[in-house]
Amino acid sequence: MVDRSNEPRVKWGLPETVQFCTKCVVSNQRPSTVVEYEHGKDSRKPTIFFDDEGVCSACRYHHRKYHEIDWEQRERELLDLCDRHRSRDGSYDVVVPGSGGKDSVYVGHILKHKYGMNPLTVTWAPHRYTDIGWRNFQNWIDAGFDNVLVTPNGKVHRTLTRFAFENLLHPFQPFMIGQKNVGPRLALEKGIKLIMYGESQAEGGSLLNADNPRMPNSFFARPRDRLRSIEVGGVPFDQLVSYGIPESELQPYIPVALEDVEAAGIDVHFMSYYKLWRPQDNYYYAAEHCGFEANPERSEGTYSKYASLDDRIDGFHYFTTYIKFGIGRATYDAAQEVRNGHITREEAVALAHKFDGEFPKKYFAEFLDYIGITEQRFWELIDNGRSAHLWEHTDSGWKLKHQVR
Ligand SMILES: [Zn+2]
Repeated sequence: MVDRSNEPRVKWGLPETVQFCTKCVVSNQRPSTVVEYEHGKDSRKPTIFFDDEGVCSACRYHHRKYHEIDWEQRERELLDLCDRHRSRDGSYDVVVPGSGGKDSVYVGHILKHKYGMNPLTVTWAPHRYTDIGWRNFQNWIDAGFDNVLVTPNGKVHRTLTRFAFENLLHPFQPFMIGQKNVGPRLALEKGIKLIMYGESQAEGGSLLNADNPRMPNSFFARPRDRLRSIEVGGVPFDQLVSYGIPESELQPYIPVALEDVEAAGIDVHFMSYYKLWRPQDNYYYAAEHCGFEANPERSEGTYSKYASLDDRIDGFHYFTTYIKFGIGRATYDAAQEVRNGHITREEAVALAHKFDGEFPKKYFAEFLDYIGITEQRFWELIDNGRSAHLWEHTDSGWKLKHQVR
């Protein structure tokens, strides 16, 4: 039995009482998107909002999405936006960040072929490409898109990923920082003003973007005199140098200067504000128009075959959310599919029970090797990340105290 008497009952700044949405299967432990470079060891997490009827803000948003939002009006707004930015001389006029997954493929393709834009796509490389991820990336380019592939310094990126796993139990955090910076950096460099991302945080229940097409500048930019007052992997920027990572090797993780963003008129938008966003439809669209391929086998930890396929360590992102929040990959997928009308809540409950928390064993050895820790250290960090309000240790091992019913 593990002695946890000296530890706080609630870790990660989560709500102490666990509640499940009565319409989908997500719990109130789901964090909302945070500004990743302000994400430190002790930061409190804003979590998804539940109303008096026990319905999560993502479900409320989806009700509006299917019953209230005027999508014809939204498309007129998109046409206006494109008209304001469309180039007349053949130069690029919009940056589309993405991996060549179903969403970025859809966004790039409609911008080019339906709205007459000239996109430059940009990819922040996965930690380790899967075969299917690399193939889909190539399929995207072969379907007729120019692309800039930004691959971070492997030595630095591994080290930061290890810090993020050790300090935050969030191995994807350095990746996410780079992913949010990569579009604005390229846009500034190339003199392109418009950046179009795919899915906004509103789809997952953030109230921030429900009626706003823009990504807040704070997600990727800061005032010039505060560019280095950030944390990466739970380590303050100025301390990274003492771990042997010089500032010259940290450029992709530093936000862009807010002054430059404003002077250049950089405008970052989400396509999901303008077009009714259904991940499954994006998949069919990407398959039909750009040769996007689903995986022949389901991803570990879930039942789905077409989302987040490109990185070998994806499974560890979802495994850590399961440990920290009690929310695994199948719950994320099933909740989204309930909200978009593909499955019933009963089906979603069964899928969450069946697949959530399935260990991503396929790339386990590779993950340990990538971040340079032993298997024993991995399990120490994992078990240390289990909050006592979510987990109990029983004779048959660790069990979640609360499961969706
Ligand atoms: Zn819900």
